[in-house]
Amino acid sequence: MHKSFHFRHMRGTMTGMTQMLPAPGVEVATPGHSAAPPGAGDLLNLMLDGQPRTRADLIELTGLARSTVAGRIEGLLSVGLLQPSGQSRSTGGRPPTRFSFNPQAKLVLAADFGVTHGRAALTDLTATVLAEEVADLDIAAGPEATLGWLVEVADRLLASVGRTRADLAGVGIGLPGPVEHQTGRPVKPPIMPGWDGFEVSAWVAQRLGTPVLVDNDVNLMALGEHSVAYPHVEHLVFVKVATGIGAGIISGRHLHRGAQGSAGDLGHVQSPRGSDALCGCGNYGCLEAIASARAIALEIDPDHHAVADASRVVLERLARGDRAAVAAIRRAGRDIGETLASCVSLLNPSVIVLGGALAGGAPSLLAGVREVIYARSLPLATGELSVVPAQTGEHAGVIGAATMAVQQFLAPASVNAMLANPMAHAAHAAHAHA
Ligand SMILES: [Zn+2]
Repeated sequence: MHKSFHFRHMRGTMTGMTQMLPAPGVEVATPGHSAAPPGAGDLLNLMLDGQPRTRADLIELTGLARSTVAGRIEGLLSVGLLQPSGQSRSTGGRPPTRFSFNPQAKLVLAADFGVTHGRAALTDLTATVLAEEVADLDIAAGPEATLGWLVEVADRLLASVGRTRADLAGVGIGLPGPVEHQTGRPVKPPIMPGWDGFEVSAWVAQRLGTPVLVDNDVNLMALGEHSVAYPHVEHLVFVKVATGIGAGIISGRHLHRGAQGSAGDLGHVQSPRGSDALCGCGNYGCLEAIASARAIALEIDPDHHAVADASRVVLERLARGDRAAVAAIRRAGRDIGETLASCVSLLNPSVIVLGGALAGGAPSLLAGVREVIYARSLPLATGELSVVPAQTGEHAGVIGAATMAVQQFLAPASVNAMLANPMAHAAHAAHAHA
């Protein structure tokens, strides 16, 4: 798996390097305005590209005094986030030691819940999956049954790689509905009875003894796809086409959640084609009501009422060359393209990624989307625009969930806090065993 990391651009001396991306949610130090000198967390963020460096390299990069750099390296070594990494060539005398970021210092538990399935993965601090488990789950069974499964799986996955709960840096969870990211609570999720207002973060944090972040599944797919495949792209829109339709927006390399966390709710935009189709949200003519796998499945097989396997039903018909299915998928692609053409005008992304179960199995959907976007948008907006299939496939959600947790754990402020009080950190982790 491709490793991707983002770190702060601290000084102009780094301009020869390729990865100088601010982590989403992390303030970028403005030259001339930074009040505090770079702390241990900033120093660690410089090392997230995986390149080994000597003390002298870090003194040059940060402009800090030799003793300060030595102290910060000691602190990072003591918590395992840096490790000695061989010696560099020297022209004479004892060769200087090099240090590198240790992505295995801690692990992250990532979960991606759909309507009918759950996927839990254990990753390292580069969001690389080390172990995973997938299960058929009914999200409508409620939060305690669903999250209880995750807590059980956490211990099995940790045991499978010879680690314990004390090794967890955090947990990231994606849910198939609107989530208030600040509090980790689902907000009136239409297909998740029993979840409205449930304290997902607190419930899991209490049981696993580690910080827990929660977000909407499509936001996390956007984050995962961006960090793995497009880390240098500023503006990207990820569109999930499956049972439902939704989008995640990366703007200025940050996940754009909007004021209430509902940005990217593409499925419930009124489709220009217009329709008297009743949507699950109660409105008529939503994009989701005419172009989702559920809508297509109902159209080509009116007797088919199962919601959960709508993508599979449509893909099976396509595989058989069913003409109604082929026509429906092309038209769905054009419908999605119509709505996305408005997004292109509004957001001017350079990459639109199509993912989700239906998009992943039906390349002709992408053809329909492209056809309309390029026809409807102005040349300035489409000149550099790529409309492409997702690369992370079914792992987009867990990679995004892991990325979210890792970014919080490795944010300079949290690293500094950890080093300022390592005993509290250790005690917190030990508490999880109780
Ligand atoms: Zn709707």
